[in-house]
Amino acid sequence: MRKVYLDYSATTPVKEEVVGEMLPYFTEIFGNASSIHGFGQEAKSALEKARTNIAKTLNTSADAIYFTAGGSEADNWALKGVMHANKAKGNHIITSVIEHHAILHTCEALEKEGVEVTYLPVDEQGRIDLNALEAAIRPTTVLISIMYINNEIGTMQDVKSIADIAHKHGVLFHTDAVQAYGNVKIDVQALGIDLLSVSSHKIYGPKGVGALFVRKGVRIHNLIKGGAQEKKRRAGTENIPGIMGFAKAAEIADAKLEEHVEKLTNLRERLVKGILNGIDYVKYNGHPTFRHPGNVNVCFEFIEGEALLLSLNAKGIAGSSGSACTSGSLDPSHVLLSIGLPHEIAHGSLRLTIGDFTTEEDVDYTIEALKEVVQKLRVMSPLYDRVKGGAK
Ligand SMILES: *Cc1c(COP(=O)(O)O)cnc(C)c1O
Repeated sequence: MRKVYLDYSATTPVKEEVVGEMLPYFTEIFGNASSIHGFGQEAKSALEKARTNIAKTLNTSADAIYFTAGGSEADNWALKGVMHANKAKGNHIITSVIEHHAILHTCEALEKEGVEVTYLPVDEQGRIDLNALEAAIRPTTVLISIMYINNEIGTMQDVKSIADIAHKHGVLFHTDAVQAYGNVKIDVQALGIDLLSVSSHKIYGPKGVGALFVRKGVRIHNLIKGGAQEKKRRAGTENIPGIMGFAKAAEIADAKLEEHVEKLTNLRERLVKGILNGIDYVKYNGHPTFRHPGNVNVCFEFIEGEALLLSLNAKGIAGSSGSACTSGSLDPSHVLLSIGLPHEIAHGSLRLTIGDFTTEEDVDYTIEALKEVVQKLRVMSPLYDRVKGGAK
């Protein structure tokens, strides 16, 4: 049976070149980068080369890059670290209702400590209102944290304007750029970003590695306490193979950015067109153009997202759904509800995310499979029957 992976926003396969880059660091160059001897120093010099390469992709200097164990840690660190280090200035954060749980749950934890959080709403396409953002700023606002690209509906925010507003009021700006990195050119200087989170396994690198960019001069407390690694800011023996793989993946992504974006955008438009033309009662979510090049998020009326996923899986197609039945909750995704979708529509959501190994044949196969599966599932829906009957 054909296998079609369309869940690149959940994670990506590690590219061959990336695996090749990592291998020597498990067996030959295995030293602890903190050791004085040659084994350690060899590892240390590789680590610093990786840091420089990651820095280049963001147009910053190596000393602003701190390696973490992934995007979630970078998000936790940015928020907790900045709020704890800037208590003299204030206790207020502004974020949005559609952030990743690494941000939202960290905000909830901070609220328990007395931090005040403003959760900005988004419009139907998933974008925050810049006037509402500016109006939410208080004298006590320390940090604005708004994600660059949303992981569910793919909507991109106007990061440059958000940074400008933050700085006009002396507020720091953090962005969760996990979905943006490798899919849009990120120049932290030109954009005016103070802190930025990235993750390796979303850009064809290994899992469990990421980085936090911290602009020089930003006050931030440590999240992980212990040894003196990462200029005494992030303790723990460095994951050198992971970091080497991450840097290689970032280098490839940066070098091939234009062709990657063009390829994904073309496949995305092909998939969207196929779905919208071939199936009725379907809604395309997110922003039509200001979005992740490979993200397709659609809602099929009269269908349960989970049932759809299982039927697609039976045809070898891997996607994801915005309703969280698997996680023990019957509530649809907070993102889909935030863009104003009613519960029953949000329940029929499907996220298909395209990546570097997706082909036109994969897309066409998926369109045909979707037509068949949606039709089959709707035959079982009494509501669909009534609507169709009424329409005739
Ligand atoms: C995947 C993801 C994260 C978490 O990154 P991990 O490396 O898996 O911890 C955070 N934010 C967004 C937007 C993501 O897509």
